[in-house]
Amino acid sequence: MTLLKFSTGNAKLGKRLIFSLPAGYTCPAAGVCKTFADRTTGEIRDLPQLNGTIADEYRCFAAMAETRPNVRDARWYNWDLLKATMYTDNDQVKVLIKLIDESISAQPTLSLCRIHESGDFWTENYMRAWFGAARNNSHCKFYAYTKSLGMWLNLKDEIPDNVYLTASVGGTLDSLIPGNLDTFKRIAYVVYTEEQAAEQELEIDHDDEHCFGDKPFALLVHGSQRAGSLASKALSQRKKHGGWVGYHKTKKVA
Ligand code: SF4
Repeated sequence: MTLLKFSTGNAKLGKRLIFSLPAGYTCPAAGVCKTFADRTTGEIRDLPQLNGTIADEYRCFAAMAETRPNVRDARWYNWDLLKATMYTDNDQVKVLIKLIDESISAQPTLSLCRIHESGDFWTENYMRAWFGAARNNSHCKFYAYTKSLGMWLNLKDEIPDNVYLTASVGGTLDSLIPGNLDTFKRIAYVVYTEEQAAEQELEIDHDDEHCFGDKPFALLVHGSQRAGSLASKALSQRKKHGGWVGYHKTKKVA
């Protein structure tokens, strides 16, 4: 059987399974962050969506990695395989669970799995499939940042105990957050500075530890930001003052 590709760690995160899809294309509720890499050339295209969001602007942290052909190919391979698989049976969820399950089984046994270092849940059936795969892999904690907040709300009663979702602010569905704080306990806000996080009384996360907590937290803007943007200026300032500017070491997609 043809299987999905995972990586097993990166500069930011320790040992864990990491699954990715193409940034932007698979993110129906991407907002200020929305960025694509052209599938053929890798050229980056920004298409920020400002409707519905409550966030300051920033560019997707994950899209720039797709300027590298091997990263781009692995992410598109995964999305192509998911789409091809889901239409092989009337029960899309069942065949997707089988694919994800068998793909996980072919990987080293690890206790953590990040769903989507890049990309997002693009349909409810796809989200359901990850829930099903998590149920079948109870040794592992699965977690994801997501802006697909409508899907999350629709499926909130189906989420297994070993799946941890974090609402990622900056999407077109941000307005769903304030009225549903009982569901969206973990909320990630992108901030420009450590001071901004302190003002909002948010701890800054660097290793996804907060994805297993029960309160909102902050992520410091990083990566390659749009030239001239406030996010880019904040990064330049931080660099000038010798502050933290990003995660650098990378490991290969397997
Ligand atoms: S939703 Fe996430 S992966 Fe998609 S474009 Fe925005 S930040 Fe990137």
